[in-house]
Amino acid sequence: MSKRTLAGSLDAAREGETVLLQGWVASQRNHGGVMFINLRDRAGVVQIVIYPEETPEVAEALAAARLEWVIEVRGTVGRRAPEAVNPQMATGEVEVIASSGRVLSASEPVPVAVDGVVDASEETRLEYRYLELRRANLQRNLRLRHRVALEIRKYCDEQGFAEIETPILTRSTPEGARDYLVPSRVHANAFYALPQSPQLFKQLLMVSGFERYVQIARCFRDEDLRADRQPEFTQVDLEMSFVDEEDILALIEGMFARIFPLAGIEVPTPFPRMPWAEAMRRFGSDKPDLRFGLEIRDLTSIVAASGFRAFRQTAADGGVVRGFTVPGAAGASRRLVDGWAELARRHGAAGALTLRHRDGELQFQVKNVLEPSELEGLAGALQLEDGDLALLVAGREKVAAQALGALRLELAREYDLIPDDRHAFLWVTDFPLLEWDEADGRYYSMNHPFTAPKEADLDLLASDPGAVQSRGYDVVMDGFELGGGSIRIHDRAVQEQAFRALGISAEEARERFGFLLDALSYGAPPHGGIALGLDRIVMLMAGASSLRDVIAFPKTTSASCLMTKAPAEVDPRQLEELGLRSSEA
Ligand code: ASP
Repeated sequence: MSKRTLAGSLDAAREGETVLLQGWVASQRNHGGVMFINLRDRAGVVQIVIYPEETPEVAEALAAARLEWVIEVRGTVGRRAPEAVNPQMATGEVEVIASSGRVLSASEPVPVAVDGVVDASEETRLEYRYLELRRANLQRNLRLRHRVALEIRKYCDEQGFAEIETPILTRSTPEGARDYLVPSRVHANAFYALPQSPQLFKQLLMVSGFERYVQIARCFRDEDLRADRQPEFTQVDLEMSFVDEEDILALIEGMFARIFPLAGIEVPTPFPRMPWAEAMRRFGSDKPDLRFGLEIRDLTSIVAASGFRAFRQTAADGGVVRGFTVPGAAGASRRLVDGWAELARRHGAAGALTLRHRDGELQFQVKNVLEPSELEGLAGALQLEDGDLALLVAGREKVAAQALGALRLELAREYDLIPDDRHAFLWVTDFPLLEWDEADGRYYSMNHPFTAPKEADLDLLASDPGAVQSRGYDVVMDGFELGGGSIRIHDRAVQEQAFRALGISAEEARERFGFLLDALSYGAPPHGGIALGLDRIVMLMAGASSLRDVIAFPKTTSASCLMTKAPAEVDPRQLEELGLRSSEA
């Protein structure tokens, strides 16, 4: 008998079997007459029992073993006495009585606890990430991630997709973020860009006739990071030819219905759909969380002629007054209300004002400025009942939507209105093709410049670009954007027109995207696709609160790896070879 058995696989059916176990010491206790060691391997943990009187050589061999030492034990599987059964442990009905044992590898005292409560700082845990990865939750999450990726590949294979790798050393693809650049040694002053997405390559693969491409692809975006971003992340990237929106939406719904059950989440299909403008108006977000109400109402017409200047002026300037009702929140404290106003200000609004329905009376935060009829009108539109509070924001439409969207989430959390046993999937559709940037005085693509405009809006592209809607779609779950894509432009002339609308000159288009424009002149099929954020999908499936919990070696919010200390300075000779000079030198 020299074949290894997995500790975590043992159960009462194996009683009496002799097994060889190898793994890490998860805990150990020495009671003199008897020693216990919990041994952990990739499948779980089992209790090993050593009787020093009967097997002194085993006791001696393992006496030195401490937490996280690697040991080997041979022994017999025995049933535990009824009072010793541990229902917290998957193997809690059994134990292994050791007949021999030895140390395979010693360990220094670990700086990061592997079992039990997290005891080290975030920095230490990231520095010793390989130890933290021994923790059960991270093991579970990364194995879940593996199974999700596997299931996606199986599903796509069944649907006729081929997984094709695209280059990492490439040219910039405009997805709206900064590029990571890699200097070329061979070509002086020339740089590769790491891909922000495989967008152009996957479109070219459609021109090549693959018709269905998928890739679990690493993408790189040099952005100022927030807690839920990583500079490199993984997309399930796919593209299909001879399809329209319906085909792609149905494909993704089918994929989600396959993968989410791996985490016990049922996915009712088809998903509801909501045009972007409606999502912004009713929920103040392009990725609304539909697990709860708190729907935003437009109140502009009610207060357009109001004696309250802030409302009247906003309406006169073409802005909006909007708000939503929080049931039962009429007693909100001053501190909370101040916090909400501050949140609204952070989103660019002038503030947020309360309207309370208390003791049968309507109380607006600013006294004596609204007529009783206006108060009644607002309360009616907001369906404000006794005990409720409404929050009102006045401002330009975009700002009011953003502020109210943020407040809606904040109040849902504050009043515990988000059910965590339910999930809400949604398609957001009918995006504007372009977004006007005040500061730069130009249009930017809402998605990327290869997104097709709606057929009916083609004429507007030159005359009124801001009014053009795109054939894009985003898939949203519980207020998180899980992915987005579009039907693409497959006509060279339309693509050239789209570049023009973005203020990209013919020369620049030729210089940066000539290969795409050329490809579109050689029999490009109608095509479209989508990219899904695998990290975020697995995070939501695992019920984790951070992307770091589903990525083996994540980076910090300042894009560094605390374990390898990347990014790091390099040897001056390397710089010289690349024709680069350090600004420090
Ligand atoms: N390339 C797009 C992105 O990374 C997705 C797509 O249009 O397929 O967001």
